[in-house]
Amino acid sequence: MIDFTLTENDQKILNETRRQALICREHARHYDEHEDDFAPDELPEAKGFQNPYFMLGTQTKDDTGFPIMSMLVTAGQTWGDYTVRMHRSGAALGNAALRASGTPEQQERWKDKRLAMAITEPGCGSDSKAVQTTAVLDGDEWVLNGEKIFVTTGCKADGVVVWATIDKEAGRAGIKSFIVFKGMPGFDVTHKEKKLGIRADDTAAMVFKDCRIPRDHLLGGDETIAKKGGGGFKGVMKTFNMTRPGVAAIGLGMAQAAIDFTKGVLADEGIEIDWGSSKHSRSAIQQELIEIEADVDAAMLTVLHSVWLSGAGKPNNMEASIAKAKGGEISRTATSRCLEILGGLGITRDYLPEKWFRDTRITDIYEGTGQIQRLIIARELLEYSSAQLS
Ligand SMILES: Cc1cc2nc3c(=O)[nH]c(=O)nc-3n(C[C@H](O)[C@H](O)[C@H](O)COP(=O)(O)OP(=O)(O)OC[C@H]3O[C@@H](n4cnc5c(N)ncnc54)[C@H](O)[C@@H]3O)c2cc1C
Repeated sequence: MIDFTLTENDQKILNETRRQALICREHARHYDEHEDDFAPDELPEAKGFQNPYFMLGTQTKDDTGFPIMSMLVTAGQTWGDYTVRMHRSGAALGNAALRASGTPEQQERWKDKRLAMAITEPGCGSDSKAVQTTAVLDGDEWVLNGEKIFVTTGCKADGVVVWATIDKEAGRAGIKSFIVFKGMPGFDVTHKEKKLGIRADDTAAMVFKDCRIPRDHLLGGDETIAKKGGGGFKGVMKTFNMTRPGVAAIGLGMAQAAIDFTKGVLADEGIEIDWGSSKHSRSAIQQELIEIEADVDAAMLTVLHSVWLSGAGKPNNMEASIAKAKGGEISRTATSRCLEILGGLGITRDYLPEKWFRDTRITDIYEGTGQIQRLIIARELLEYSSAQLS
């Protein structure tokens, strides 16, 4: 049975998320304009406020499940700001990889560490199997050599999950992931990017030069190379089935913020948006805003569907890509269309829509671009392998 009802508990958590989001907004512009500062893990106002994700732990079986609620909370937080949070958890993309592919012992050992994830290299972006960073076993240590770019949270994280090949001839099957911590010899963060949007989020470049790490830092611990299929590569790719819907939710939260801001401006001018009105009686602006909001709602439904599948233990490879493709595209087009309606007001730094417009751009790029998501969807529909359709 499909049920879209939110319980009292659900609503309480979402109201709290929104209350906090409004406070986070007050800090958003500062960290946007001071790119070299790190947004704090805890705002000065944080005392007495609970983290909405922790509040999800108080839900009963009659409330909406964690997969759905976590996406609603995610979108609710970015409705305030992409980066600034009342309380920011230490988790980053590498933590999701650890949960997806680490041994139980590794998960326990590193559960409190903030871990970034480094796949992208100067010559390897969308085609992630083209990784050139190497890992060679030398006694009881792996020796890593290579360069990584665009690593989210790379400056702030305690360590990083690094994709490297143990055998270039083996292609995808030779790619493994390794955990490297700051301070390990041969590992350096070399650069912090300056960006169009999400400026308060650090994006780093890093170098591994004869970087020695213990043998048991191989994520999952499997040193063999699978004869068929992608071996561990497939396992780590599963990380994205968990995180791609979240990326879409992040973008859609900001798109909703732009819609709500635009509605407020129109309301001040006496223009109400009434979904119940007849299409023929609406002005062009009313119709445009209703279409933008319908697109955002539809995209959010693809997000909720994909996480519901994974929460139910069902495969969601295609649905996670649908959510990311749809969510990424709609969040950037929705904010752009809102700017169109707002005119000059949309681009002044006195207000946040121009920031949401810049911040949403990334949702259609990282964790696989829109084009790459469409390739994945096509492969699933046509039952083609990545070699047959790339
Ligand atoms: C702010 C930011 C944060 C990031 N965070 C991380 C991170 O934490 N960890 C990490 O490893 N990486 C991260 N990335 C890297 C990101 O995942 C890559 O930028 C992305 O995968 C695209 O790779 P590329 O930039 O090399 O572009 P390219 O792969 O060179 O692609 C350029 C264009 O060609 C298109 N294209 C490429 N191949 C195909 C194809 N086969 N069919 C159709 N079109 C295609 C792409 O869609 C894109 O439009 C981040 C990037 C940014 C900007």
